[in-house]
Amino acid sequence: MIVAIDGPSGTGKSSTSKAVAAQLGLSYLDTGAQYRAITWWMLNNGVDVADPDAIAAAAGKPSIVSGTDPLAPAISADGVDASGPIRTPEVTAAVSAVSAVPEVRERITDLQRTIAAEARGGIVVEGRDIGTTVLPDADLKVFLTASAEARAARRNGELKSADGKPAADLAATQQALAARDKADSSRKTSPLKKADDAVEVDTTELTLEQVVECVVTLVEK
Ligand code: C5P
Repeated sequence: MIVAIDGPSGTGKSSTSKAVAAQLGLSYLDTGAQYRAITWWMLNNGVDVADPDAIAAAAGKPSIVSGTDPLAPAISADGVDASGPIRTPEVTAAVSAVSAVPEVRERITDLQRTIAAEARGGIVVEGRDIGTTVLPDADLKVFLTASAEARAARRNGELKSADGKPAADLAATQQALAARDKADSSRKTSPLKKADDAVEVDTTELTLEQVVECVVTLVEK
């Protein structure tokens, strides 16, 4: 059983994918974390992330290893745990440019296909191009959407600082999400796109539990 869950940022892909995988006893792969990890490695190793040729030349260098337990997702670059650093604003700001470079996509797509093929019992894979490019023969393809306002509000909720206050203002978050989605949907190589045979689920008015139930029902159909 291979489940592909795609969609723009802030639609609830990660929370949904982890919960569906845990509930159904499947493995889980966060492909955004892989692109973030290679971006983090490049930022730390003097690669100019404004230069596609420099990115292409470095694409094959780091080893990127993903854990596939939905209850304990893990990611490392060259053996260093990258789970925390891949969520920093610096990585978020650079990841769309890095992931648009064909050599990076080829490398990471190969890794994704290998992990999916080796997952015994099945896997939930979340990303932007899983249903269209990485695993076009997936048993189920889901494309999550949500209004721009709902997505920004959720992202701000995740970024809350220790005192419980939002870390960023809503308008700025909405703008940053829109810019990343525009870059991800307009790149030449495997852009963010709904597969023709994907089931679209608008999560704007749904709780996480409702989205999970909806996807589990689709898997069990
Ligand atoms: O899902 P997440 O927001 O962590 O993804 C970070 C970035 O990785 C996306 O904005 C996109 O540039 C890239 N990505 C991609 N293809 C995927 C998953 C993520 O290009 N399948």
